[in-house]
Amino acid sequence: MTNAFHPPVRTLMGPGPSDVSPRVLAALARPTIGHLDPEFIRMMDEIKGMLQYAFRTDSELTMPVSAPGSAGMEACFVNLVEPGDKVIVCQNGVFGGRMKENVERFGGVAIMVEDEWGKPVDPEKVKAAFEEHSDVKILAFVHAETSTGVMSDAKALCQIAQDNDALTIVDTVTSLGGSELDVAGWGIDAVYSGTQKCLSCPPGISPISFSKKAVAVVEQRQSKTPSWFLDQKLVMGYWGGGAKRAYHHTAPVNSLYAFHEALLMLEEEGLENAWARHQYHHNALRAGLEAMGIGFLVEEAYRLPQLNSVMIPDGVDEAEVRSRLLQDYNLEIGAGLGALAGKVWRIGLMGAACNKKNVLLCLSALENTLASMGADINTGKAIQAAEQVYAA
Ligand SMILES: *Cc1c(COP(=O)(O)O)cnc(C)c1O
Repeated sequence: MTNAFHPPVRTLMGPGPSDVSPRVLAALARPTIGHLDPEFIRMMDEIKGMLQYAFRTDSELTMPVSAPGSAGMEACFVNLVEPGDKVIVCQNGVFGGRMKENVERFGGVAIMVEDEWGKPVDPEKVKAAFEEHSDVKILAFVHAETSTGVMSDAKALCQIAQDNDALTIVDTVTSLGGSELDVAGWGIDAVYSGTQKCLSCPPGISPISFSKKAVAVVEQRQSKTPSWFLDQKLVMGYWGGGAKRAYHHTAPVNSLYAFHEALLMLEEEGLENAWARHQYHHNALRAGLEAMGIGFLVEEAYRLPQLNSVMIPDGVDEAEVRSRLLQDYNLEIGAGLGALAGKVWRIGLMGAACNKKNVLLCLSALENTLASMGADINTGKAIQAAEQVYAA
């Protein structure tokens, strides 16, 4: 006989998923109702309102896609890119590469603007790409690159797109709820995010929002959107239909209860307060790591507070460290991706996982583990350094 699955209780300080709060887990366990039930529709309207608050937009086409962040990415590209369309794609990590894949699979032409992993997108290179190519339809970039821990200047990049009459598609999977994001203020046309990073919800849902301009472009498409499930014109019959909602697909009812609760928690805390909390605990974690002698990959000016890429001390078996943290402390941190594999760890401070208890746990667990493996680090200083930030 197979037994029921009881997962271990971990502390999730990797690149996502992050710790899910007991409030959100409790919401997930509430009774399932029909996805066309008037009570469910009332809740959907509340989700839309709170999501508009989180994204800072009043766009009517703001809704969660019933699939993970990658599907939100695909929803933006599949609806906006038509065969032959030119799209400037900025790549400074893993996720920009996936944007290129999306453009090409939907018949578009990807014009790549590349920056080193660990550096932000260079606005000057983007300007040069617009000068070199005419009729660019879309500029696509990642706001917070989770593979490196870098923040790019979304406001400046959107301005360049507007100066060149191009639409923008922006990946905010890791920034939403963790760092300043102003979708309407910055003029972002299509934005997607995820639930399992700074919103601390279980994975599997992707909030998206399209501007009026983007909606008009979708409505004027020459070719049929090559995805049935992600065709926003069809999805809107369900999410935008008010009392007359039509069946499109069965919404993930309980996952949306959880998402509602997570958005409610964000609203209670206040968006700006959530951004400040991520910065505050990052400062303490940084002080502790630096006191240990562990440095950062990314320069401070464009470092993400919610995703810390830190250099692995010389001669350390990095996979062994991660597996000991998991075994001995139930603590998950992330490995480096792609070009950064074996060079960095990625320590997440996302959403509900971004708190003092986790910062102190991570510092002491990492210090004990590294010291026991004979790594060349300073011991006995990290906790005090972090506590000094908290005491200030
Ligand atoms: C996690 C992540 C994604 C993908 O989200 P999934 O939910 O894993 O599909 C996309 N972009 C960025 C920047 C991410 O961090």
